[in-house]
Order: sequence, then C-alpha cells, then structure tokens
Amino acid sequence: MESSASRAVFRTASEEETIALGARLGRELQRGVVLLIGNLGAGKTTLAKGMVSGLGAAPPEDVSSPTFTLIHEYGGGRVYHIDLYRLDEPRQVETLGLDELFDRDALVLIEWGERFPQLLPDARTEIHIRALEDDTREIEVGQALSPANLPA
Ligand code: ADP
Ligand code: MG
Repeated sequence: MESSASRAVFRTASEEETIALGARLGRELQRGVVLLIGNLGAGKTTLAKGMVSGLGAAPPEDVSSPTFTLIHEYGGGRVYHIDLYRLDEPRQVETLGLDELFDRDALVLIEWGERFPQLLPDARTEIHIRALEDDTREIEVGQALSPANLPA
C-alpha cells in the first residue's frame, strides 16, 4: 500500500492474517492517529495487535483490549491503544487528555473513537473492519489527512 493512496481494501481469512496485515499497516503508518472502526468482534483489537507488533513495540500476545483500562502504552510511548467503548460523554473523554497524546511522535490507535468526532484531529487514518461470512474480514484503510498527504 502506498501512503498516498486514498483508499485500500484488504481481505483476511483468519485472526493470524489480520495480525499480519496489521503489522504491515503499522510499519507503513509509523505514527499518527488511527481510528479502528467496526462492530464488537469485528477484529479491531486483533488488528491493533498486529500494528503494535509490526512496530516492534510489543509481541501480539502482549496486546490486550484496553476496554477497562481505556489506554494501553507500548514500546515506551511508541504506540498507544485506546478503547472509548465504556465512555458515553465527551466530557469523560476530555479527562483522558488525548490531545496531549495526539501531539506525540507516536502511533495512536483508537477503538470507538468515531463516537466523539469533535475530539479527534482532522489528520487521521480511518480503518473500517467488517465481518463477512465465517472468519473473513474486509479491512478498508482510508486516506490519512495530513499535510504530507495532501495534493500539492
Ligand atoms: P473487536 O476489538 O473489534 O471487538 P476483537 O479483535 O477483540 O474484536 O475480536 C475479533 C474476534 O474475531 C476474535 O475472537 C478473533 O479470533 C475472531 N476472528 C475470526 N476471524 C478473524 C479475522 N479474519 N480477523 C480478525 N479476527 C478474526
Ligand atoms: Mg476491541
């Protein structure tokens, strides 16, 4: 995938394939805010395992869902993995201090972040994950809106 591509769609047939794809995407993106969007069980956390491991920040088996802890940090701040599922009010999200994380030179992965669009930076990548039949997942990577990626 080229980072200038506006959209790329992948299909995986197993958890292992999604982790492998995540590793590629993590190495490709390196940094920035990434929304992982999809239903419960779609594979957001599984893709995050791959992205964290692809950057060498932690092995995939050490990456767990931050559903209760809300924020996990890997690789001494190279990757943050956030899950906003349990929060309902923008006010609650604001207390997490995400703006400060967004300013860091890190990859910031967010599950359920699309519920709080006003709290997110415009420069972000959106990855939609859809469960198709059985263990097949469609994974769509949208353009990162960063100055570096805008047409001249
Ligand atoms: P989410 O974070 O979106 O709620 P998880 O990643 O925690 O989802 O869980 C995804 C579940 O789906 C896991 O139990 C995983 O084993 C299963 N699964 C089956 N096929 C795939 C696939 N192709 N990619 C990712 N997960 C898959
Ligand atoms: Mg999850």
